[in-house]
Amino acid sequence: MIRIILFGAPGAGKGTYSSELIKKYKVPQISTGDMLRAEVKEGTELGKEAHEFMKHGQLVPDQMVIEMVHKRIQEPDAVNGFILDGFPRTVTQANSLDQMLRQMNIELSGVIKIEISQETILSRLTGRRVCTNCGATFNIATMKPKQEGICDKCGHNLIQRPDDKPETILNRLAIYQKDTEPLIEFYKKKDLLRPVQCEGPYNEALARVFAALEKMAKV
Ligand code: AMP
Repeated sequence: MIRIILFGAPGAGKGTYSSELIKKYKVPQISTGDMLRAEVKEGTELGKEAHEFMKHGQLVPDQMVIEMVHKRIQEPDAVNGFILDGFPRTVTQANSLDQMLRQMNIELSGVIKIEISQETILSRLTGRRVCTNCGATFNIATMKPKQEGICDKCGHNLIQRPDDKPETILNRLAIYQKDTEPLIEFYKKKDLLRPVQCEGPYNEALARVFAALEKMAKV
């Protein structure tokens, strides 16, 4: 049973690692970014509101994501575990998550902190391309699709996320430092933080993430 948070800066690889972990552990990936993008795509009221923040690289209001996660985490497929990707991102969200878990009488297995240099983050974000259909992620420098601009998995077009443009990236990184980094101390105090060095070849970093998870799953 694993109930973890994948924690790291934008571009650290949370989504990419999550998609590997869910295959092995058969638990859902709960990505607030993906959920919000789906709302934007569907043109819902929530999506319209969220888009105003997202396009500038700002965080959406806490209450919006807290309610989304509160509902999602109680769905049947999450009963046996989950991987939270991109949530919590503020101390308010982390406190709400604590409260939700207490009410459900469950505990986090741990928080995997993806450690990576600012330089790597920047090259990952500027090179990232995502599929317009299935959301699969590629990188024009490090994880190229077989055919340029086309998704290997479903054949649809790849695009650059609007919030991966250089001017927005800097804003997102500044917000991460100000609002999200305080969570490192928050989870350290709870003895839940597990830093994993993710610099270097992807497969080796992924193996280290798996190893950290194995230790947690046994506890
Ligand atoms: P991500 O795909 O995780 O990088 O998220 C994309 C965007 O969605 C972020 O830049 C925020 O605007 C918004 N977002 C995703 N998760 C959260 C969250 N937990 N709190 C606030 N905003 C979020």
